[in-house]
Amino acid sequence: MYDKCILLLLLCLALTTTLMARIKNGYAPELVSARGCLQELSRRLRENPDMRDWERRRINLAIREHTETVAYYQLTDALLKQMREISPKMFDFMDELKDKRGRETDIYVRFIPKERSMVLFSGASYFQESASDEDASQSRFGALTVAIDIWICDSSLQLLAHEFGHTCYIVPNLSTYLKFYHNVYSGTNVISHAGHSPSDASGKLAYDFGSQFARDRRSFRSDSGPIPHVSVIARNIRKHVEELIAWNFAEALASASTFD
Ligand SMILES: [Zn+2]
Repeated sequence: MYDKCILLLLLCLALTTTLMARIKNGYAPELVSARGCLQELSRRLRENPDMRDWERRRINLAIREHTETVAYYQLTDALLKQMREISPKMFDFMDELKDKRGRETDIYVRFIPKERSMVLFSGASYFQESASDEDASQSRFGALTVAIDIWICDSSLQLLAHEFGHTCYIVPNLSTYLKFYHNVYSGTNVISHAGHSPSDASGKLAYDFGSQFARDRRSFRSDSGPIPHVSVIARNIRKHVEELIAWNFAEALASASTFD
């Protein structure tokens, strides 16, 4: 599993705003957009009852796409909640992660289907160094952030613990780690090796976090019973979201009210 992990270290982006440190749902920005689009699609359906078939098919396709975003947002929420229940100490520690200068750094997590992944690895952490501040981690979510993408599979939380380990080491050691990373991994042909050379402290911590999570999971099972499988949670959430959105559309069309 871990040989598929990769750290993607990108350089030089502008520093923007600062937020309170938290582990956050990486689908939050897409959720806002999806809700707005669903409202607009609902309005178009309501105001054009004689819409041509090809246009209605196109709208239904868009509804499905935005429904997926809502489902992935809810799945990410559910899995982060499960992570906190199983490994509360690890979760809370990462929830208050600070960089070298003591600034809190947000961690945006998305659980994504394999086919949506931008890289061929089951877990990926994205760090970017600010052009004006070598100790500030950035990601596509802005200043003082890290982005983590994890494939949706039954080992998703184990993979997240592993990426937390990388993140835990790199954020407070960003500038020195970037130099190490480029010295050690530049030119390597085996990209899955990145983050896991024998001298890579982030890789060691990633394995340690993975082992700690496995112990926490055993202890949680022993105390609280079986843990629902990710595939079951995902299937239930998708079914619930599809039904909810279909119901909302039917209600909106019937009552000529706004999609909510
Ligand atoms: Zn790794």
